[in-house]
Amino acid sequence: MDSNIFILDSSAFYAGFYRSLNSKFYTTTSILQEIKHILKSSLTLEILISSGVLVIQDPPKESIDKIINTANLLGDIKKLSQADISILSLAYEMNRILVSNDYSVLNVSNFLKIKTISLGNDGIIELRKWKNFCKTCRKQYSPSIRECTICGNLTKRNYKKIRPTV
Ligand SMILES: [Zn+2]
Repeated sequence: MDSNIFILDSSAFYAGFYRSLNSKFYTTTSILQEIKHILKSSLTLEILISSGVLVIQDPPKESIDKIINTANLLGDIKKLSQADISILSLAYEMNRILVSNDYSVLNVSNFLKIKTISLGNDGIIELRKWKNFCKTCRKQYSPSIRECTICGNLTKRNYKKIRPTV
């Protein structure tokens, strides 16, 4: 896998991730709509698009269906915008690293084993491994388990930072 190809969601644009050198980026029409105001003021972005470094590509319906089904299963569907679903679908379709800080986007990615990169508050890249856990029993579950099998309490989400590999 070429590790210099990244799928960018809106938060990745806000964080300026598209300025990373020697990389190629993909995003969807819906994400581009969301970040239109940056686009207007950014000559960099315009150049990236016209030079083919940033490619606008929309995912096929099968991938969108897969993402919607998974988000339903995980209970994340109401927290995902149409743009979120489009970028998840593209990352799933292309099997490339998705750059996002959105909690629900990352949860669905984790479940489908889509590789992700998040940008910490300090702008530093973090890889996050998401788990659900029971606050009472401390038992860990996969992100799809929303109730503790021991005590029946609702599980909470949390993540562990992993050393970036890209
Ligand atoms: Zn429990």
